[in-house]
Amino acid sequence: MSDTVRITGVHAEGRHGVHEEEKTRPQPFLVDVEAEVEAARAAAGDDLADTVSYADIASDAVAVVRGPSVDLIETLAQRIADRVLARGALRVAVTVHKPEAPVGLPFSDASVTVRRDGPLAASGTIRRAVVALGANLGDARAALDAAVEAVRRLDVCVTAVSRYARTAPVLAPGQPPQPDYLNAVLTLTTAMSPLDLLAALQRIEVRLGRVRRERWGPRAIDLDIVDVEGVASRNPRLTLPHPLAAGRLFVLEPWMEIEPDATLAGSPVASLAAAAAARSGVCA
Ligand code: ATP
Ligand code: MG
Ligand code: MG
Repeated sequence: MSDTVRITGVHAEGRHGVHEEEKTRPQPFLVDVEAEVEAARAAAGDDLADTVSYADIASDAVAVVRGPSVDLIETLAQRIADRVLARGALRVAVTVHKPEAPVGLPFSDASVTVRRDGPLAASGTIRRAVVALGANLGDARAALDAAVEAVRRLDVCVTAVSRYARTAPVLAPGQPPQPDYLNAVLTLTTAMSPLDLLAALQRIEVRLGRVRRERWGPRAIDLDIVDVEGVASRNPRLTLPHPLAAGRLFVLEPWMEIEPDATLAGSPVASLAAAAAARSGVCA
């Protein structure tokens, strides 16, 4: 379930069309945009920075309409969609109206609507993803085994699974002690969208008994997406790369074992692990 930011009837003059005259004489275009966003944080904090502003969407539409001349309103709609997705919308629908198009017959409006998915919602491209597994309640080894098996049954190809590493819990200040964790990392390829992969991993967490009582509490299983090839997202529902992975030895070390040359947001995982180990006073 997402939220919608909508602005309609954004008006600007542009020089677009297949006829020569349309490329020189400006005519009116009207644009409607529906952007699917994650507005919960913006609403809770009353902060515009956490959503996509309809004023920014309007300026995107005007910039494209006033911009370089193109033949088709499909092209205008696509260019506006690209800009709105770059602002963090999950999906977008853009309608461009051309009410004075040279149709040669009486009509009231001509328009084209394009609907596009942003990188988190887009499926159909085979991409590599890295998933971190952790458990510290009950039989952690059995939980990791069951999680790996359940991931294999998704529409994915699991390409490598690290050994399971016993790690001391990383506790927040004042947090009560917890049992040690068993951690692992697996890599996979999939054509699922990153959001669908997250939903599938969350279903596996639930099936394996995950209950969320407190943040960073002990857990039967945790399945986090560390990285998805080519996708960067600040969306709180799915932040990619995982915002804490670059500093977590319990993620970096198992990952390095299966992909020694891996990089995370451009930095070699081996260097990140060495830096994290130095901070924690452990030899990498
Ligand atoms: P941490 O994120 O510090 O590892 P956690 O794994 O214990 O904490 P969870 O309770 O498993 O946190 O997840 C909380 C929320 O984090 C989920 O509802 C999910 O939507 C969101 N989330 C954001 N980015 C990611 C990601 N890359 N992988 C998994 N969950 C994510
Ligand atoms: Mg986690
Ligand atoms: Mg998690």
